Amino acid sequence: MKKIDIFDTTLRDGMQGLEINFTLDDKLEIARKLDEFKIDYIEGGFPLSNDLEAEFFRRIRREKLSHAKIVAFGSTRKPKGKAESDPQITALIEAETPAVVVVGKAWTAHVDLVLKTTREENLNMIRDSISVLKKEGREVIFDLEHFFDGYKADPAYAVDVLKAGKEAGADCLVLCDTNGGMLPMEVAEIVRSLPRQELARIGIHCHNDTGNAVANTLVAVAEGAVHVQGTINGWGERCGNANLCVVLPNLCLKMKLNASPAANLDRLTSLSRFVAEKANIIPDRRSPYVGEAAFTHKSGQHVDVLMKADYLMEHVPSASVGNERSIILSILGSRSTILKKLAKYGEFDKNEAVVHELANKMKTLEQEGYEYEAAEASFDLIIRKALGRYKPLFELLNYNLESHKVSTAPAKTVGKIFLRLNEQDVMGAAVRTGPVDALDAALRDALAPAFPFIAKLKITDYRVRVLNPEKASSAKVRVFVTSSDGDVEWDTVGVSENIIEASWQALVDSFEYYYDNHVLDGTEK
Ligand SMILES: [Zn+2]
Repeated sequence: MKKIDIFDTTLRDGMQGLEINFTLDDKLEIARKLDEFKIDYIEGGFPLSNDLEAEFFRRIRREKLSHAKIVAFGSTRKPKGKAESDPQITALIEAETPAVVVVGKAWTAHVDLVLKTTREENLNMIRDSISVLKKEGREVIFDLEHFFDGYKADPAYAVDVLKAGKEAGADCLVLCDTNGGMLPMEVAEIVRSLPRQELARIGIHCHNDTGNAVANTLVAVAEGAVHVQGTINGWGERCGNANLCVVLPNLCLKMKLNASPAANLDRLTSLSRFVAEKANIIPDRRSPYVGEAAFTHKSGQHVDVLMKADYLMEHVPSASVGNERSIILSILGSRSTILKKLAKYGEFDKNEAVVHELANKMKTLEQEGYEYEAAEASFDLIIRKALGRYKPLFELLNYNLESHKVSTAPAKTVGKIFLRLNEQDVMGAAVRTGPVDALDAALRDALAPAFPFIAKLKITDYRVRVLNPEKASSAKVRVFVTSSDGDVEWDTVGVSENIIEASWQALVDSFEYYYDNHVLDGTEK
């Protein structure tokens, strides 16, 4: 089986992506994770660019990586200069990595207009730079910048650049679609046309500007490339790089090729989310293989089929990439969906009255605008009500909110609430800027003496969606609330034409759900 080397550039090209920032510690942690995952090469950065990058190489040198080679990135020497004393080359040597990437120009337009040197001198720059690094004992990966554009403009020169890299001793010649403008047919044709017997190992580095970075990478491999560059989650300059979280399962599960991370694919989803967390980026839910939606089923009919055999509705098992299947509730959801959700309360039959009752209830609520896909805690309360297992936490007598604004001072809201709790009337009050916050605070004020656990519950997310915008300011809204006790998170929903009322429903569900699931008779479970 053909072995494909996997080269990760999340810490170099990935950092060029919009909103992607890693601290030095983040970079070290990501490098360790990539090593555990058995990525073959980890490009750590551009040692010449700043001290932080150089420091990364100093720190990672002290670590015992089990598999990966750390790679430093730099460009060829300057025109008319000496490679031995060129700052780019010196920085690469001083990074003391086992492998280095040297990037050189492969497109005549860039040689003429950007380097402003002769085409012959560009070839000399490439040969000299690679030779010096080879003499220093480095594995040299030669990235041919704009290779595909260069080939389209002047195929003979692009091949001369490849040959220059090979003559100087480069271990791998990486064809880069730097502008990301290629289509898979072009990549296939160009890679196929190269005089391969005269070259070294071929690698591929694609950007995603036509939405084809993964496809272009796969066709290059099909045409013989044995070294694949990409980033975790596909992050990178502009539209990003080839997404290794998609490339890897395609190479291993579909094309049946061998790559070192193949044995760890069941940790791919966790790797993707780990890197997203380090970058403080919300993971893309619709990402193939590793996204939350990748194995999520909504339609009731699909769920019925899925119960017969996984492969009927899923192209690979979710576990093969460490993802999880999830079944979401919707009016499309059949009784079998409801049965799955009921399972935690015991065994139920499809024809039982409570299953029918819940199916009808769901239909009504969803028509009113409730959505339980992202509000499982609210759905859990509906199940408890249907099963007769629900006991309200309190009874609302009334709440009252007053918003004030005086001249140019910031607006304020005073919230007051009266509840019937354990056969007593209790009152809560609070002053906040906004009405939802004031209502939440007043409710907490009323509940706290009886339920001290309330103090540690926090709202971590609050989202409002207008359901019928054509009704303008009298439109119905759906409010989602995410709550946390610092350990677990749960989501609740409310719907109303009154945003305060919708928020109230979601807030009450949040406290009741937590009480039912985590607190028993005032003492925590
Ligand atoms: Zn790139």
